[in-house]
Amino acid sequence: MQKSKGAVWVVAEQIEGKLAEASFELLGKAGELAAQGGGAGVVSVVMGSGIGALAEELIPYGADRVLVIDHPRLTLYQNDTYAAVLEDLIRRELPEIVLFSASYCGSELSATVAAKLGTGLAAHCVDLHINEQGEFVQVVPAFGGRVLGDILCPNHRPQMASVKPGLFAKPAKDATRIGEVVKETAAVLDGFSSPLKALRVVQEPPPGLPLEQADVVVAGGWGVGSAETWQLLEELASELGGAVGCTRPALDEGWTEGEHTMIGTSGKTVRPRLYIGFGISGAAHHVVGMKDSGVVISVNNDSQAPIFHVSDYGVVADLKKILPPLLEEIKTHKDSGT
Ligand SMILES: Cc1cc2nc3c(=O)[nH]c(=O)nc-3n(C[C@H](O)[C@H](O)[C@H](O)COP(=O)(O)OP(=O)(O)OC[C@H]3O[C@@H](n4cnc5c(N)ncnc54)[C@H](O)[C@@H]3O)c2cc1C
Repeated sequence: MQKSKGAVWVVAEQIEGKLAEASFELLGKAGELAAQGGGAGVVSVVMGSGIGALAEELIPYGADRVLVIDHPRLTLYQNDTYAAVLEDLIRRELPEIVLFSASYCGSELSATVAAKLGTGLAAHCVDLHINEQGEFVQVVPAFGGRVLGDILCPNHRPQMASVKPGLFAKPAKDATRIGEVVKETAAVLDGFSSPLKALRVVQEPPPGLPLEQADVVVAGGWGVGSAETWQLLEELASELGGAVGCTRPALDEGWTEGEHTMIGTSGKTVRPRLYIGFGISGAAHHVVGMKDSGVVISVNNDSQAPIFHVSDYGVVADLKKILPPLLEEIKTHKDSGT
């Protein structure tokens, strides 16, 4: 039997028996890390109740071994029960690296488990690799996103990282892959008392077209300057059949509808056919969420703005002078059917 000690782990996430796409994305990256010498094979952990069949779904995407913890008290994600089970499993199996999705649950669970184990956690990584010295490098935006920093965890194990869903490509499914499924017990939950009780999952779909499904994304940053000008972005997105995205400062100003419109390390990853950005400087925290877009057009009045490094077309201008005539032109073309 293959031992999971020293392996690269992926903590798979499931909600109501459906695996999150990020679990597959992380398996692809875990395979790369293992191949680069980061760990002995890829192990995925899946927790829940009545979720035994999910293990088979993880193997074709890169898991060599799946540890299944099936327990009635794990029916719904609850921080303390999930953390207790995972901490116990890690202490017994001693993985080298543990990867989490930086979803709401994954962000909370990874931080809790890292604190319990007294090890490091690099949150919201934008890349992961093994360097020439064989060290696990966790890349995160630093200093307000102006630079990318490499984080190492040389003295503690496991090395833990979380990655935003959608950042890594989902690997191709290989139905011929063979893996081992191991049913683990959750003895740690015997007599475990908790002040919490998760009751149900309430998922509220965001209004309008989800950002990550839009072919056209019109994004705005702090340079948009006011709620009135923001309305022009909304109008433009509507004319183009797209969705509006934003940077952190625009969200903080309250110009957009909520968290689900933010693009970047703490927000969504988008890959539209067309991304048009207005008044966005191009900080790494934002760029990481839009850099794989098809055609990128940026409007910024500073010719040195870093966003131009990732743009196919750059317009150095005051966005307030560009937006009204652009809208007018698009409407005229639409009216004339051209
Ligand atoms: C842990 C952490 C996580 C973060 N996560 C995210 C994230 O997920 N997403 C995100 O976006 N940010 C995130 N941030 C913030 C990020 O680092 C940047 O601060 C942010 O992306 C900058 O937003 P901005 O480009 O709108 O604003 P600014 O950097 O202030 O840029 C505004 C730009 O507008 C231009 N401008 C001003 N007026 C005009 C005008 N009239 N016409 C044209 N151009 C104009 C300026 O030249 C400037 O380039 C995070 C930060 C931290 C610390």
